Amino acid sequence: MTLDNIKEEIQKANTIIILTHESPDGDAVGSSLAMYQALKQMGKDVDIVMPEHPKTFDFLPCADEIKIVGRDDIVYDLAISLDCTDTNRLEGFDPWYDEAKVKISIDHHGTNSMYGDYNYVDPVSPACSQILIVVLTSMGIEINKDIGKCILAGIITDTGGFRYSGVTTETFEFVADLLRLGVNVSEIYKKVLQVKTRANFYLTKLAIDRMEFFEDGKITFTYITKEDEKNTLAEAGDHEGLVEIGRDLEGVEVSIFLRETDKGFKASLRSNEYVNVAEVASIFSGGGHVRAAGCTIPYQLEQAKEKIIDRVKTFIK
Ligand code: 5GP
Ligand code: MN
Repeated sequence: MTLDNIKEEIQKANTIIILTHESPDGDAVGSSLAMYQALKQMGKDVDIVMPEHPKTFDFLPCADEIKIVGRDDIVYDLAISLDCTDTNRLEGFDPWYDEAKVKISIDHHGTNSMYGDYNYVDPVSPACSQILIVVLTSMGIEINKDIGKCILAGIITDTGGFRYSGVTTETFEFVADLLRLGVNVSEIYKKVLQVKTRANFYLTKLAIDRMEFFEDGKITFTYITKEDEKNTLAEAGDHEGLVEIGRDLEGVEVSIFLRETDKGFKASLRSNEYVNVAEVASIFSGGGHVRAAGCTIPYQLEQAKEKIIDRVKTFIK
């Protein structure tokens, strides 16, 4: 069983590197920090690396130990990739993953390409961090307050604060356990989801102003450019949540949000009832979940907009 293999490989390994996806969100950061602390508890020599992450998560235990590069003087015994569908999304960190002696992918995306020697992929789990409850418990790791807070940050991020249909009985049982341990769930909720940065507020205004409707209001479209991010002094993660503005409007089935990057436009897609946006994203070599997915469209704004809207239209009833 994969879980047994994972346990065995972790036990055998001494040097371990933890990796996650580009543009890390709360689940990426929370999962990585939870795994990091568990491996430290086991006495492992472990590094946690990721691209610049949102400051929002700096309150989490051990966040100050996150590095932006791995070590080049060693070949890691083990690489563990968390919350990441494929090696493309490890962007810039794939050399450390590729070179490691053994590779493990733990993820909750149905579109995971199974790129590890061992893959523990559970698409039913609403967050990758929630899978870690099973993985860590089976390894005999005690989920203390600090590890629990990181797992919780992942769950709150990916369930939109327990609102999405993916939440399971385990989700609430876990939160009940944390409350028993004395974790201030409400405070973490506020830090992770409720408090917005000033840049996010300005970007929200722009995204609302530019919102367009298609197909009788079943599709919404909006975008932000690099210039907008520069003008609003935006930092990592300040675009989070903008795609949800359209999704939460009455009558909307698919919300499309484009964000300019060095590679063209990054599309964030959200749906409400029947469009499988992971399928739409896959057409553009992206992926994700049925109701939340993304991809990169390597074109200028007008072309990228037309390409994605035209595709989404074919899925609208
Ligand atoms: P977001 O729109 O919040 O960036 O991403 C929504 C979901 O789609 C997340 O689960 C994320 O991991 C996934 N996702 C976003 N962009 C990509 C992409 O380019 N490729 C793949 N495979 N998944 C993506
Ligand atoms: Mn996730």
